[in-house]
Amino acid sequence: MANRTETRTERAHRTIHAGGEWLAASSGATREILDPADALPFTVVAEGDEKDTDLAVAAARRAFDTGEWPHTPVAERAALLRRVAGLLVRDREELGLLESRDAGKTVEEGRVDIDCVADAFRYFADLVAGEAPGRVVDAGSADVHSVVVHEPVGVCAMITPWNYPLLQASWKIAPALAAGNTFVIKPSEITPLTTIALIDLLVEAGLPAGVANIVTGPGHTVGARLAEHPDVDLVSFTGGLTSGTKVAQAAAATVKKVALELGGKNPNVVFADACETEEGFDTAVDQALNAAFIHSGQVCSAGGRLIVEESVRERFVAELARRARKIRLGRGTEDGVECGPLVSAQQRAKTEDYVASALAEGAELRCGGKRPEPSPQRPESGYFYEPTVLDHCHREMRVVREEVFGPVLTVETFRTEDEAVALANDTEYGLAGAVWTADAGRARRVAGRLRHGTVWINDFHPYLPQAEWGGFGKSGVGRELGPAGLAEYRESKHVYQNLAPKPVRWFAG
Ligand code: NAD
Repeated sequence: MANRTETRTERAHRTIHAGGEWLAASSGATREILDPADALPFTVVAEGDEKDTDLAVAAARRAFDTGEWPHTPVAERAALLRRVAGLLVRDREELGLLESRDAGKTVEEGRVDIDCVADAFRYFADLVAGEAPGRVVDAGSADVHSVVVHEPVGVCAMITPWNYPLLQASWKIAPALAAGNTFVIKPSEITPLTTIALIDLLVEAGLPAGVANIVTGPGHTVGARLAEHPDVDLVSFTGGLTSGTKVAQAAAATVKKVALELGGKNPNVVFADACETEEGFDTAVDQALNAAFIHSGQVCSAGGRLIVEESVRERFVAELARRARKIRLGRGTEDGVECGPLVSAQQRAKTEDYVASALAEGAELRCGGKRPEPSPQRPESGYFYEPTVLDHCHREMRVVREEVFGPVLTVETFRTEDEAVALANDTEYGLAGAVWTADAGRARRVAGRLRHGTVWINDFHPYLPQAEWGGFGKSGVGRELGPAGLAEYRESKHVYQNLAPKPVRWFAG
């Protein structure tokens, strides 16, 4: 393990991988990667640009047009994905720690992320390996054999965010490879490290040169070039609404396929009947905390909007705020820490701005709302912010309508089921939401009416690789995971064979 880390260290800023070579940026530019727990640089990567992007796309194009990968038998492709899963398990500690330092999450969260990445590789390996090679269609004639087959889309560009760097990358890379594509990935410029490490594992697993390429660098140069590039066939983007809109616009000029996984403003609806027993109350409060504050709320599906029945509001919010005050903030690598810092100074400033605007608009601060006192576990220079509960919120407030992406929970109330559903659907997003109730009929009714891509009943946050993930409304276009997550990376081709060709005599000739 130590040797592997040294190899990466020795490679230093040669973090662009194109056509099987590790390269520095053609301009020579580099970027320091900061540890969000103390804002100190701990490594350096290449700061690629459009020229580096063109080089990587050309390598992916060559590997697709003339290489063996698109034609490699499905069983071999699946076997390679399984080898990658095995290597991820082997390097779990190293990668989990890297994710923790890069993104600020706790090491345990980092480890769980790596487990989920390995699951994604296994899932897509099993999915393709178990499939029929095509679908025979009844053409209505014994003289015709008609079959629909799936082919890879081609060169896929992937642009990923900083909150779950390797997990979001794996939801794209695993299905793209399973389907036989080649790719160029651009990780977030602030958290590229585990994605760089994954390229090493793909090479070690035996992926041919040019199939997997990475360009580290900013969105407005590398990302924008990928989205507009004429030799890219598909762009899959995970990130915010503003950048996602730009990607879709840039991609439109060359009519490439586009998949967008964008933000969310996710409701957590709690009915009073869920809190009737002590156990029910404890579970609903515990999960509301988890929904809002895990990874400091920097989760696309964070339950940042608590919508609670008026009759239990005071008891529920008081207990929630009491427990939120006790969340142990600190460097993700320290024992006993439950929540790390925000990922960047910019992300904390954005959070502070949302809280200030909510208070100016009349919200009541129940806890948090400030930076914590510094301690040995949380240096003053780190980007820490206390879990914050804002009571008496309403939909006119920016903090209720817009994605904060920080540890901020807003509280709204309702009196009837219709009102609860209307509030939960009152968002331009539609990524995920939850309903808490002891009434099975109500649970199904409300779940059926929620306009969100994932609905949890008496739970929050779990996902399954075999179930589609994605959003209604402005939460995105397309789906990741599940069979639809594989279909994104495929073209369907109808092959119609006339077994007994004859003239049609349409023209008298
Ligand atoms: P972001 O939009 O700022 O950046 C995402 C990626 O896009 C980065 O790699 C960035 O460099 C790149 N980028 C920025 N501008 C670009 C441009 N003009 N052209 C091409 N690429 C560009 O998002 P972020 O702050 O890194 O991540 C947080 C966002 O991601 C949140 O909105 C969150 O909800 C969303 N997210 C969604 C999901 C999901 O599954 N729906 C999962 C994780 C994160």
